[in-house]
Amino acid sequence: MSSQTTSETATTWHPNVGESGTIHAKRIPGRFRAIKWLTASLWLFFFIGPYLRWEGRQALLIDLPSRQFHIYGLTVHPHDIWVLTFIMIFFAMLLVAATLLAGRVFCGYFCFQTVWTDLYTWIEEKIEGQPRARHALDNSPWNINKLSRKGLKHGLWLAIAMLTGVSFAAWFTDAFQLWSDYFSLQAHISAWITLGMFTVGTYLLAGFMREQVCFWLCPYARIQGVLSDHDSVLPTYDYRRGEPRGKRELENAVNDKGDCVDCDQCLVVCPTGIDIRDGQQLGCITCGLCIDACDSVMKKIDRSTGLIRYASLNEMQDSPQISMLRRPMVLVSLVMLITCVAFVAYGLTSITPIEVSVEPERQPMFVKMSDGSIQNSYHVRIFNKGSEPSRHYVTLNQPEQATLVTPAQTIVTKPGTMSSVRVFVKIPQARLDQAKQAITFMITNADDQGDKYTYQSYFTGPEK
Ligand code: SF4
Ligand code: SF4
Repeated sequence: MSSQTTSETATTWHPNVGESGTIHAKRIPGRFRAIKWLTASLWLFFFIGPYLRWEGRQALLIDLPSRQFHIYGLTVHPHDIWVLTFIMIFFAMLLVAATLLAGRVFCGYFCFQTVWTDLYTWIEEKIEGQPRARHALDNSPWNINKLSRKGLKHGLWLAIAMLTGVSFAAWFTDAFQLWSDYFSLQAHISAWITLGMFTVGTYLLAGFMREQVCFWLCPYARIQGVLSDHDSVLPTYDYRRGEPRGKRELENAVNDKGDCVDCDQCLVVCPTGIDIRDGQQLGCITCGLCIDACDSVMKKIDRSTGLIRYASLNEMQDSPQISMLRRPMVLVSLVMLITCVAFVAYGLTSITPIEVSVEPERQPMFVKMSDGSIQNSYHVRIFNKGSEPSRHYVTLNQPEQATLVTPAQTIVTKPGTMSSVRVFVKIPQARLDQAKQAITFMITNADDQGDKYTYQSYFTGPEK
């Protein structure tokens, strides 16, 4: 294969559009298969996350009715939603950076579609056997054997699909209560809809549509074509080493042949039915399983591994390569990633248990009192972002000539609610230096004297 051809096929997409039926990919052990299991296992957190407990309640909870996100001891309210926004931007930029560097590596190792499909096909293999046996079973007439195998497989697929639905719903409500509500048929209508959608969706997408989702439904598949370029490191067939390909007697391998023995192992393990020897392809989910397959063949025929390997197109064609950190898009992604981390770190460390605001009343701006002093009134608002009722009282920090007329009173605020009190401040007119001057309120936790918040406002008097 010439370099010209390889370059052309880098933009070619040869998906299975149904003409070859369901793809039954062979499963073989190897480095990238092990990594794939490892990264897929991170999804276990999706199933166990809602059952973690912290101080007697659900550690991770997206409480939509109360518009709160509970992350262990931290409660994120709409006031702090910008922190979550930066977390989402971080993951979006991480996806962009990963695609720039290694194409659809997210698809191959972490995407829920490929992970669930992998799990479904693993079950299929355990019940129906290797690909050849599966094809034979598909084409055989219905009998007890076929019925029981298919029944067991679909039963397990449906059970996983339902568990996926329950697990998703459990992130939004008390997980243990949710199970009880489902079993007693008392669950909220939204919980039933979630369960139904996820059961049907998971069963169809992972059980039947499989790689077709990656080809035709996933918007990311379209975006990644724009993001990856000739410097992206993707599974690539070393055509100069492999061609001319051909079968041969292993012991008498002739020198005029390349290293590829045309065994098709790289093709039969591919979950998307791609022949990587046609060149890098947009439909490739970068899972590396063809590398495992080819490496095992190379070891058997006593050749060095890496006939298929992670490599950039420029590297494979001996074209000049741009180092990772000199690629402008990679640099932009890195800067954005670092920025997001900085904002999230600042946000998480600066989230306070309460939010305080002090608003001066404007109608009237001030009142002249009979004792010759000027009085302003203020609304002190405390929003309790914690999970327990809070008790606070208000005092004045400065100026020293100001007096808080309202006696210090305890403001009790329920979790997730706001309390407001009206307070009055007086300053003798003779001691009023200017028409408008700074004033500082202090809000102190009645139960924890060290927990204090200051709030700057201003005091208004008559023009001098
Ligand atoms: S060509 Fe190789 S890396 Fe790409 S999807 Fe197929 S097996 Fe995975
Ligand atoms: S697995 Fe390796 S040797 Fe076999 S066909 Fe694929 S590239 Fe050639």
